[in-house]
Amino acid sequence: MKKGRIIRLIGGLYTVIDVFGNRVDLKPIGLFRYQNISPKVGDEVMFDEESIQEVLPRKNDLIRPAIANVDQAIIINSAKKPDFSFYLLDQFLALIEDANVKPLIVLTKIDLMSEKELSQLKSKLEYYSSMYTVFYVDSKNRVGIDLLMENLSGKLSVFSGQTGAGKSSLLNAIDPLLNLKTDSISEALGRGKHTTRHVELIKINDGWIADTPGFSKLEFPEMNVSKLKDLYPDFTRLASLCRFNQCLHINEPDCAVKKAYQEGTILKERYENYVLFHQTIKNQKPKY
Ligand code: ZN
Repeated sequence: MKKGRIIRLIGGLYTVIDVFGNRVDLKPIGLFRYQNISPKVGDEVMFDEESIQEVLPRKNDLIRPAIANVDQAIIINSAKKPDFSFYLLDQFLALIEDANVKPLIVLTKIDLMSEKELSQLKSKLEYYSSMYTVFYVDSKNRVGIDLLMENLSGKLSVFSGQTGAGKSSLLNAIDPLLNLKTDSISEALGRGKHTTRHVELIKINDGWIADTPGFSKLEFPEMNVSKLKDLYPDFTRLASLCRFNQCLHINEPDCAVKKAYQEGTILKERYENYVLFHQTIKNQKPKY
């Protein structure tokens, strides 16, 4: 048996690449169906001439997109068209943290901002750099692309972002051979279109990337409301200073997080979005 990685799934057929870079199309053995295992893109597998025999333990397991063993998620936010949104960024960060994946923040279309606008936004985004790496790019002029590429090396990265945030342009700047279709007209209007239909990993240099459809709105999965606070590394750092052990940082007395927000050491937008997310999750109706 050989070891390999699933890099594509189309119509029940898996493309597996072995350590030498040979590709082979395989079906999983029927046994998986009874064991409730379904191999997915990103999985490391053992396979023979005919089929995938074994799925090796996963490091993590994303549902949407259905990819396993993701090293990092590249969160693409545009500076303008559509306007930058802390709400979307914070929500995305929480969801990625929930999936146990490392987030990287990319701000695209920085050329559309005036110097003043950009420096104002940068001074706020600076807040995140104690937790995550933040990249500033202008795909058109290849500004910031090389630095981002260095961080993709040897990793499996999922690219995700708001519709129209310039994800395809960014991928094309990273590798012009990808030649992805960018709908420049709809991008100009701030409304991108997307054509991704199946799950596939694309090789760039010595790393793998997965493109995902853009989103216009994100939703929190059903979760216990006390879980949300644990998805904020900046809050958990302070939580031991809160009076209560399981402080939700909302209305509790002597809350170190709320105090930091009031004193301005926690970014205003970030805390206020947290309160909104908290409410949203609390109001979720269970789906049966
Ligand atoms: Zn607290």
